[in-house]
Amino acid sequence: MPNYICTTCGVQYADSDAYPVEICKICADDRQYVKPSGQQWTTLDALRQAHHNEIRTVEPNLTGIATVPTFTIGQRPLLIQTPNGNVLWDCISLIDDVTIAALNVLGGVDAIAISHPHFYDSMVEWSRAFHDAPIYLHADNEPWVMRPDKSIVYWETETVSLLPGVTLIRCGGHFPGSTVLHWADGAEGRGVLMTGDTIMVVTDTNWVTFMYSYPNTVPLNRAAVERIAAAVEPVAFDRLYGGWWEKVIPSDAKDIVRRSAERYIKAIS
Ligand SMILES: [Zn+2]
Ligand SMILES: [Zn+2]
Repeated sequence: MPNYICTTCGVQYADSDAYPVEICKICADDRQYVKPSGQQWTTLDALRQAHHNEIRTVEPNLTGIATVPTFTIGQRPLLIQTPNGNVLWDCISLIDDVTIAALNVLGGVDAIAISHPHFYDSMVEWSRAFHDAPIYLHADNEPWVMRPDKSIVYWETETVSLLPGVTLIRCGGHFPGSTVLHWADGAEGRGVLMTGDTIMVVTDTNWVTFMYSYPNTVPLNRAAVERIAAAVEPVAFDRLYGGWWEKVIPSDAKDIVRRSAERYIKAIS
């Protein structure tokens, strides 16, 4: 029985002999949307026929992976290589033999961590492909898990250390369990923050923003933005990677997050 994948958000559902639900629960949520043409589904096999993954080094020990042509939200997950193991940050729907072989050359995947439900995608397939690697999701996002699995580790604290120098930080905001990843050795030791949709690099890459819904342009309130800024304040970072190839702040990212939070709060006050 197929594990259907929503063609709008890319999230894969538990196996079913019929379509899992009439409307994808992730897309029915007011942060997302159902296309005017209606709900559509695909499968991983069908996806493999029409798409492949582009794999590219973005800095030493950091590799980006994204699907070509773009499928659904078009995000670019990152593989972090450390002396103690590799972490896949965020996920996409398409996984194929070429991708698995390429990542195995880099040392494979020892753990998967995902910022929020819009990027849960085919996470269980990715775990299976890499020896049932544990998938770290914040427990507050469990209601949006459409394919429950024994590989999922729900963490409940405000931070969790995955490996030396690799820490997950719960920020909330976009989703209650929205998470960022801090990589201490990144950016030549100045520190890297990977932010998914929790902290979004905007068109002017000297700024970031913080939204409840990006496609529907719904802002967060003051308390939520203050909480996000406070959550990342204790860690050192100079570079910030958002969820897409072009969403990168090469340096001075910590100051940019700070002043972007101030600008945002001023604008909504
Ligand atoms: Zn969906
Ligand atoms: Zn999102």
